[in-house]
Amino acid sequence: SLAEGELGPEREGMVIAHYGTQVAVESDTGTVQRCHIRANIDGLVTGDKVVWCEGEPTGVIVAQLERDTVLCRPDPHGKLKAVAANIDQILIVIAPYPEPHANLLDRYLVASEVVGIEPVIVVNKTDLLDQDPAQQQLMDMLLEVYPSLGYRILRTSNKDDGLDELQAALHERTSVFVGQSGVGKSSLVNKLLPEAGLRVGALSENTLKGTHTTTTAQLFHMDCGGSLIDSPGIREFGLWHMSRGEVEQGFREFRELLGYCKFRDCQHEHEPGCAILQALDEGVITEERLGSYRHIINSLDQ
Ligand code: GDP
Ligand code: ZN
Repeated sequence: SLAEGELGPEREGMVIAHYGTQVAVESDTGTVQRCHIRANIDGLVTGDKVVWCEGEPTGVIVAQLERDTVLCRPDPHGKLKAVAANIDQILIVIAPYPEPHANLLDRYLVASEVVGIEPVIVVNKTDLLDQDPAQQQLMDMLLEVYPSLGYRILRTSNKDDGLDELQAALHERTSVFVGQSGVGKSSLVNKLLPEAGLRVGALSENTLKGTHTTTTAQLFHMDCGGSLIDSPGIREFGLWHMSRGEVEQGFREFRELLGYCKFRDCQHEHEPGCAILQALDEGVITEERLGSYRHIINSLDQ
């Protein structure tokens, strides 16, 4: 072990929690240490891969490695700030209750496209659908278009339905759960992390002695062999501001058509030579998706 003030050799690790000026780093062998951050490194977030040295009593982060993906949100001044890094998939949870809306689901999907992270639609509370054929039918109608757009749909409930399939989807990936309040995200997270409370407690007692419990994103390992990054802020992902251009690009089936509108600033309303309206006529784009697009664009101006 190291003497006080002494540093171990450089090694790779991952930020699993953030505590003000310090972070918790997990080594490649799974040990966790609280670390200071060298002054030349700015804006480390949970999920970041780093080079660090063990130290007594705290380690030190000496370099930040490149990110595959980064989830950003605007700060109160509109400047984008990273929230979490290296996320592989965004699980968008919907449920029969609270009532799902295509507009909102599309908003989450568009936001996922904007950050370049694969979204997966998770239909939760399937027990309620099984009891109510009318609800099931509404859900089927809502979801009809998405498989043809290439989006994957999983079905789960807190009664263990679909848990195996969900766990398989989470395996060897780093995921986040997003979605409206009440759809069952906490229940799913608790199911996937039976000992989550214990882990968080252990982390703050042994590793983070004397520091406040984080309110920022934290990374957890699940029994199914995948990781989860979670925080109240991340669960609200998708409701953050987007630009008009981002929204356009975020509708998968619009993307390759946009260059073909006659006018560069086409609003896809009534313009002649609009490739989006033509695709609507041809059935390539559905009324619902164009309706969602307009709804989201209108909400941006407010
Ligand atoms: P969150 O706000 O998305 O984190 O949702 P919660 O996990 O807090 O769940 C909201 C409510 O839905 C709670 O009353 C849960 O008991 C209930 N709930 C969660 N999952 C299911 C489910 O699969 N089936 C049913 N019927 N209720 C569920
Ligand atoms: Zn157009």
